[in-house]
Amino acid sequence: MIKLHDLHFKPFISEEEIEAAVKRMAQTIANDLKDEVPVFVGILNGSFMFVSDFVKKYPKPCEVTFIKLASYEGVKSTEDIQRLIGLTQDLSGRTVVILEDIIDSGNTLAEVYRIFKSENVKNLYIATLFYKPEAYKKDFKLHYVGIEIPDRFIVGYGLDYNGLGRDLPSVYQLKQTQYMTNIVLFGPPGAGKGTQA
Ligand code: 5GP
Ligand code: MG
Ligand code: MG
Repeated sequence: MIKLHDLHFKPFISEEEIEAAVKRMAQTIANDLKDEVPVFVGILNGSFMFVSDFVKKYPKPCEVTFIKLASYEGVKSTEDIQRLIGLTQDLSGRTVVILEDIIDSGNTLAEVYRIFKSENVKNLYIATLFYKPEAYKKDFKLHYVGIEIPDRFIVGYGLDYNGLGRDLPSVYQLKQTQYMTNIVLFGPPGAGKGTQA
């Protein structure tokens, strides 16, 4: 059990499980892309650990870059998506694979699609390490999913709660009792306590 700010989290996904999922994704994508040299685009901040481990396991030549969007406040996604920072590279004609830490409502993903539509990329694939199917509200196809998880707030392996927890090498899940208490006391998650994507 760990405490970050006011909340308690319990161990949820081990380093070994994460490593196996990352390796599986890297091998599957490498097989599917055949001789293409992809550009992997990590969405900061949450994806930094995933991208680092992923590209080490990717068995073929590739490029890596990062972009940043802020989309998340408190423990639930909001529709408030901010602008893109950091896409300086020309991606026209390239096979681009977006590497996301987690897909929840899909709002961030919708924004990523909107941005990349004007980039004239050859192919755009979405790969996410974690995915909450119960929370997903969009129709965009998720090409590669590492681990499906329930619709409950997690931290660790790049994911934060109000700035803390990104450094944890494994993933922790918010204890249910506090989650319910927070909803009752403070309204639906998302009201207050900002974190950054
Ligand atoms: P979406 O836009 O799909 O709702 O959410 C995407 C972003 O919200 C993620 O990149 C991440 O920054 C944040 N997010 C979604 N679910 C969680 C979660 O369970 N824990 C944490 N720490 N962040 C989350
Ligand atoms: Mg993210
Ligand atoms: Mg966050």
